[in-house]
Amino acid sequence: MSKLTVRDLNVSGKKVIVRVDFNVPIKEGKIKDDNRIVGALPTINYLLENNAKVILLSHLGKVDHKDPVKNEADKIKNNLEPVSKRLAELVDAKVTFVPVTRGVELEEAVKNLKEKEIILVQNTRYEKGESKNDPELSAYWASLGDLFVTDAFGSVHRAHSSTVGIAEILPSALGFLVEKEVEALGKAINNPARPLVAILGGAKVSDKIAVIENLLNIADKVIIGGGMAYTFDVALGKKVGSSLLEEDKVQLAKEFIAKANGKIILPVDSIVANSFDNPTDIKVVEGDIEEGYLGLDIGPKSIELFKKELQGAKTVVWNGPMGVFEKPEFANGTIEVCKAIAELPECLSVIGGGDSASAAKNLGFKDKFSHISTGGGASLEFMEGKDLPGISVIKEK
Ligand code: AMP
Repeated sequence: MSKLTVRDLNVSGKKVIVRVDFNVPIKEGKIKDDNRIVGALPTINYLLENNAKVILLSHLGKVDHKDPVKNEADKIKNNLEPVSKRLAELVDAKVTFVPVTRGVELEEAVKNLKEKEIILVQNTRYEKGESKNDPELSAYWASLGDLFVTDAFGSVHRAHSSTVGIAEILPSALGFLVEKEVEALGKAINNPARPLVAILGGAKVSDKIAVIENLLNIADKVIIGGGMAYTFDVALGKKVGSSLLEEDKVQLAKEFIAKANGKIILPVDSIVANSFDNPTDIKVVEGDIEEGYLGLDIGPKSIELFKKELQGAKTVVWNGPMGVFEKPEFANGTIEVCKAIAELPECLSVIGGGDSASAAKNLGFKDKFSHISTGGGASLEFMEGKDLPGISVIKEK
């Protein structure tokens, strides 16, 4: 079974509301990275080519609804207008920005909207009810259109008015970007070619408990690196010096190791330093890490071990760096793992967004992976095996 997509809708002459992810970094009115706008273009262009009237909804940043002063400041900071200007440069169509989220100005703009034209509505989070999936707000927004398309993968794990509420009312479908995400992540997690090897890293075990749990059930191997590996080391009786440690998760790490039946692969050495902020003494350590030193990357033997464990993998999912990759002295583990995955033959390689996605892009491996997810939180929840409300609300074909 697969979900309805925009191709299944008869969009000609219809007002199509599209939830896009235009949550882009903006500084002093200038867009710093327009990747997310570009990511929505295939769906937008398809709708324009097929004579739709396109109404775009997106959030941008956060808007406080408790403190009136903060509310005003957030609204000024998170105004979507600069995005509409950039969008107008990227599409061959008239783009009208509507600076409000409801009322006569919006309704008039929708009434005057012609085929092959676009309206971008102000930041959905200007509305207090948005993040509460408020039924009145959902019904109001739904009343503006005939059809709904969900194309903001980064928001599908949230049940908001613009992601779920409208979809419950209007005939709805996935856009191309979400379709691609669901296909790639679905193949990797729900129907993987085996062996499936998961690589998890990053700072904390506590952020990834549910992912580890689910992957231990479905993956053939779970490689753990990064700061979170030290909590597992302590669970095995090793000393970790001043490395990142979550004492309250040691027992859980023990339970994971016991349950894993040898599936969990941990680093066998570390690059340690005498300080995080000012490392003047950096060395490779196997076994216990002495007091006064902290592990900031996996060591050369761990890299070799992880490469060996990756050999023959037919599916790899990767989330989280192997060390403090932001600092060049501790980036090698992440770089080498990234390379090793990128070079695997006939392997579906999926990066679950966030830091590992930016690492792969910055290292120039963007095109070597089968899929780099655009949604950190959403892809993590997908890997946790959780229901994503913005996707489950869309009907099967
Ligand atoms: P996450 O958001 O959980 O994927 O964590 C990413 C962060 O983990 C990055 O900012 C890394 O610098 C950090 N990290 C990775 N390994 C370590 C480590 N050994 N010690 C401290 N921080 C780490």
